[in-house]
Amino acid sequence: MNQTLEKFKEYLKEVRQYDLASTLLTWDLQTMTPPKGLESKMDAIGFFSTKSFRLLTAAEYGAMLEELSAPEQFNELDTAMQITVKRYLREYRRFKRVPEDFYTEMVTTSARSEKAWEKAREEKDFSLFLPYLDKMISLKKQYINYMEPDEDPYEVLLDTYEEGMDSVTIEKLFTELKEGLVPLLAKIQASPQPDLSALAGSYDIDAQKKVQNMLLDYIGFDFEAGAVAQSAHPFTMDLCPGDTRVTNHYYETQPISSIFSAIHEGGHAIFGQNIDPVYEGTAVEQVNLMGLHESQSRFYENILGRNKNFWVPIYAKLGELLPQFQTIPLDVFYRAINDVHPSFIRTEADEVTYCLHIILRFEMEKAIFKDHVPTEKLPALWNDKMEELLGIRPSNDAEGILQDMHWSDGSFGYFPSYLLGNIYDGMFLEQIEKELGSLDTILAEGRIREITAWLNEKIHKHGSLYNSREVLQRVCGREISAKPLLDYFNKKYSEIYGF
Ligand code: ZN
Repeated sequence: MNQTLEKFKEYLKEVRQYDLASTLLTWDLQTMTPPKGLESKMDAIGFFSTKSFRLLTAAEYGAMLEELSAPEQFNELDTAMQITVKRYLREYRRFKRVPEDFYTEMVTTSARSEKAWEKAREEKDFSLFLPYLDKMISLKKQYINYMEPDEDPYEVLLDTYEEGMDSVTIEKLFTELKEGLVPLLAKIQASPQPDLSALAGSYDIDAQKKVQNMLLDYIGFDFEAGAVAQSAHPFTMDLCPGDTRVTNHYYETQPISSIFSAIHEGGHAIFGQNIDPVYEGTAVEQVNLMGLHESQSRFYENILGRNKNFWVPIYAKLGELLPQFQTIPLDVFYRAINDVHPSFIRTEADEVTYCLHIILRFEMEKAIFKDHVPTEKLPALWNDKMEELLGIRPSNDAEGILQDMHWSDGSFGYFPSYLLGNIYDGMFLEQIEKELGSLDTILAEGRIREITAWLNEKIHKHGSLYNSREVLQRVCGREISAKPLLDYFNKKYSEIYGF
């Protein structure tokens, strides 16, 4: 019996209890809390987060991690516990190198910066955000410098969101995609465009909620291990083993929005719900691989949900719940959910131009972190890149550099993971067809749960035991490549647009 290990497990359990309390409060804050209850909820979140923060920076915790990482003890641990000790020790050591007053300055500046960004976006005025963005860039560089003094800050950031990824690999993948997608978009734009006027109208919100539940159930979301609520922006939250929740947002005139948010968040949740319980209490049940997580939500949303055959077995059901769809032929609906055109806002983009939105952001982040382009030059650079990639130029910065919140709180290096997820999806699709046969047939026959079972077995149950590159190697037997995704786009859209 390893006493340090037992103590360590108990210690992590305590941390998890505090984390569960703050996560549950955060869930409530974002879904149910009335305005007058906001303050006290936020106080309580602060209280529980500080408890867990103190435990994770305590000398006692560091000593346990050091002891368990010594070879004679480490070699006795099972794989999940080895990963846990390695990851947490790295975090502990990194964190210990950051001076406390610097950390506090970063946290408070980040909160102010978010507020400044909100106002700047509202007023379409970049100058209001400029000093904060400038400060966040330098604080983030300094922060990484404390944690990993010998590493390139942008590489550390990329690795934080998608372990094992680096800018050279991403650059290569994104360049290949850009070279394939820009001409594809030109062909799509030169083709006859669909008439989507049949979809105009008002769609009952309660009925949209029923559609959402029907879809979640259809793809394999477990209502015994999760719940659904409404929030300003859809998100997924892993509360604790046995409880992974999703939210949605509904627009009366855009039922397609809540339909695809439900499928997207459902994909994230199915991942969380199917992690093997043997990893409970270890770092393996926490999946901080943003690209891999995003690959699962996007697989459901795009590869499955935007395939015509996905709807074949359930389109009549959709019409029962939302009667407008009884008069809209499936073919028209299919064109509507695959309507490709350049637009300014990333979150409203179709699956093809979405890739170009992310490439733009990656190139911007490289300009910031590698080429040190002055902050005041960034809005114009953004607009130039938008014109180069999508052929349109924002008329104001709210349509341009101010649209996303990520940089306002210092989440640099996060964007590429969205597109990496799409790239992994191309590879998963190719592999599924090799192993299970034609996706179109499986979907048309209503056997989607076979796909979910495949994803559960190959990806979900392992949690974060393997990083994304290892997952691709294990599941697809090859190195990461953008080609399968490009093949998927070319085949699908040449059929839809007829070229
Ligand atoms: Zn997502």
